Amino acid sequence: MSAPGSPAAALPLELFEYVPESALVVVAHPDDCDFLAADVLSAWVRQGTRAGICLVTDGDAGGDDPDIPLGALSRIRLEEQGRAAAHLGVHDVRCLGYPDGMLQNTLAVRRDLVRVLREFRPELVITMDPTSRFFGRGYINHPDHRAAADACLDAIFPSARDVRAFPELFREEGLQPHKTRFVLVGTGDWSDVAVPVAAVDVENKLAALGEHHSQFDATDMRESTWEGVREIGARAGVELAESYRLFDLAPNPSQREYGKGLAAPERRNGVPAPRLPQSQWG
Ligand SMILES: [Zn+2]
Repeated sequence: MSAPGSPAAALPLELFEYVPESALVVVAHPDDCDFLAADVLSAWVRQGTRAGICLVTDGDAGGDDPDIPLGALSRIRLEEQGRAAAHLGVHDVRCLGYPDGMLQNTLAVRRDLVRVLREFRPELVITMDPTSRFFGRGYINHPDHRAAADACLDAIFPSARDVRAFPELFREEGLQPHKTRFVLVGTGDWSDVAVPVAAVDVENKLAALGEHHSQFDATDMRESTWEGVREIGARAGVELAESYRLFDLAPNPSQREYGKGLAAPERRNGVPAPRLPQSQWG
């Protein structure tokens, strides 16, 4: 997702070939997931991953038609997202229902995401980049994208992990704390890993994008989508891939290289673990 022409767009990427047992994508709007990770979800679901999508807003502000009654677009977009997810083999789509266009990283949003994380219990989460303000000269990042990503990361660490955070979730709803192992952030210029995908996954992504009729015509995106996954693949030495910034939140710092410390059956691909910079903060 590096901006075309940015220096980061030419940097090599390490392959992230690990197939998680479970993966949750957390985004602001219906359609965000399909730009961010549809082909990756398709690839992982084909290999047995339990996958879900969590939308933080209801998507009711998207589109240019003032005659659609308030609330009606939300229903249309959720139906579009459900059909899009089905192309990827994903049938768990949740919506927290916050008003589109007005999202902030409040404690209420964080608590709702902690609930989702503790219920779904993902090994890996994909979300957007709360620090990406601009993409090249052509796009100012949507404030909902930043707020949803910020709330998601704050929910992953530390709130979902801590039994005393939002104690009612444990005491009244019985939701056990949950530690997410990996986070992939879809970022502008800070990607460090590439997740390989196959041609069928790129076609599934295009099919998913094609379901968002109320928002755009995806036929315009075919060429740029293929170009993007080929360019990222080339940076990682594979044909097709998507890029992210990887965080490995293994509790033991000595395990904090991707794949290390996972039991053998969990290292499904048997791939060598790339050496990633470790946090000095533990
Ligand atoms: Zn969006």
